[in-house]
Amino acid sequence: MESYILALDQGTTSSRAIVFDRAGGQRSVYQKEFRQIYPQPGWVEHDPEEIWETQLLAAREALKRASLGPEQIAAIGITNQRETVVFWERESGRALGNAIVWQCRRTADLCAGLKERGLEEKVTAKTGLLLDPYFSGTKISWLLSRRPELREGAEAGELCCGTIDSWLLFRLTGRHLTEPSNASRTLLYNIHDSCWDAELLDLFDIPSSLLPEVVPTCSDFGRTRRELFGDEIMVGGVAGDQQAALFGQACFEAGDAKNTYGTGCFTLLNTGREPVASKNRLLTTITWDLGDGPEYALEGSVFIAGAAIQWLRDELGLIAASAESESLAASVDDNGGVYFVPAFVGLGAPHWDPRVRGAVLGLTRGSGRAELTRAALESIAYQSCDLIDCLEKDAGRRVETLKVDGGASLNGFLMQFQADILGIPVQLPAVAETTALGAAYLAGLSCGFFRDREEIAANWRLRKEYTPALEPARRQELLTGWRKALQATRSFI
Ligand code: ADP
Repeated sequence: MESYILALDQGTTSSRAIVFDRAGGQRSVYQKEFRQIYPQPGWVEHDPEEIWETQLLAAREALKRASLGPEQIAAIGITNQRETVVFWERESGRALGNAIVWQCRRTADLCAGLKERGLEEKVTAKTGLLLDPYFSGTKISWLLSRRPELREGAEAGELCCGTIDSWLLFRLTGRHLTEPSNASRTLLYNIHDSCWDAELLDLFDIPSSLLPEVVPTCSDFGRTRRELFGDEIMVGGVAGDQQAALFGQACFEAGDAKNTYGTGCFTLLNTGREPVASKNRLLTTITWDLGDGPEYALEGSVFIAGAAIQWLRDELGLIAASAESESLAASVDDNGGVYFVPAFVGLGAPHWDPRVRGAVLGLTRGSGRAELTRAALESIAYQSCDLIDCLEKDAGRRVETLKVDGGASLNGFLMQFQADILGIPVQLPAVAETTALGAAYLAGLSCGFFRDREEIAANWRLRKEYTPALEPARRQELLTGWRKALQATRSFI
């Protein structure tokens, strides 16, 4: 009987499930959105029960659409929105309140206080991260200090706390586990010693009994409870979304890089067995542990990428659909001197400045929809270029080609401009769902469905390659314009 892998892709706005075959081909997909909860400006929450219910529904529907029974699924792979935290009761599995989402800024003051105490250097040395509300540690601290019942339950050893992978695993299998790619985003995990760090748990005042056991990314995470799918299915692989995408892109070697163009952009550069410390305020993170120790990447993220196009659509009404931005941008020969710095929520890597706000510079009477749209698309490429510059400096090596994925990677104008501005080829793979595919590969490796990384790498198929075609002088001119725009915008705070 032919068998398949079921990938669960628990994202920030929706839960998806995809069935993959041995060639990495997609057999079925089901997606269900869930509520975004904004209790106060800057705060973002999710209901853990909704996350679970939508994810379970997606899994069942994907199996149904592929006409598969549980016995035809060799293993389940999970990939998830990272850093988001959930508390639940160990005994009943009941969630205790909403999840605090990675985007939530409620611990900004807590982070600022820790920075003022001069603690960032130590935290970065151990975790590869920065003291930013983005990561899980201060979110857990915040919940424990604001909700005495959580502190009490935690001290009594009655509660579990974890990122979304752990929450789903607990509901699927009843075990409290995580793996290094997720653990390395918590601010609590020592990425060099591969363990929860006692000194950091102390600093954030978090009892270790709350936290999951950390097992390798490719592991036997347990079997799903029989009543969920009618039979037990092994969970064989788990990874955070960006690391899963890196794996799905077959970026296995040091020097391999991928950029995901979604709401924001996430660029990861594989650095192999070496955890490279950044001198440019990028993150050092674990990519995965396939059972023989951790491997690492440098990561940079920009907060607003595709979201700038959404803004043109929803707030300005310049375009009716995101995809329309492509023909509109291509309808003019150049940006007409217009630069758009989409710092709507401050700037991420390498600037990490939450105070900056967006700006459009260089407008003339002739600037119109096309120039503004073009400038918005170009800003995505410039921001990614700045990240890759820093990645290259930190890693001490050139990125030779960039593999791309995510919704906006389907924009041909943007991808060509990205290749032009970087001066390297940009490669779009045949399978766009690299995140879910990465989770499927990890699960498949651990159950023997896939033999090794070579077999997986051979599955990677090019859909389109964009080669740089811009004259170096023009490229420099554009980059200079962008940098001046960025500088001007940063001075307006
Ligand atoms: P996420 O996973 O972050 O929700 P997706 O990978 O689904 O994001 O990509 C959606 C984002 O990409 C949206 O912000 C949308 O505006 C943008 N986008 C989608 N298609 C295009 C396109 N053809 N051109 C430019 N931007 C696009």
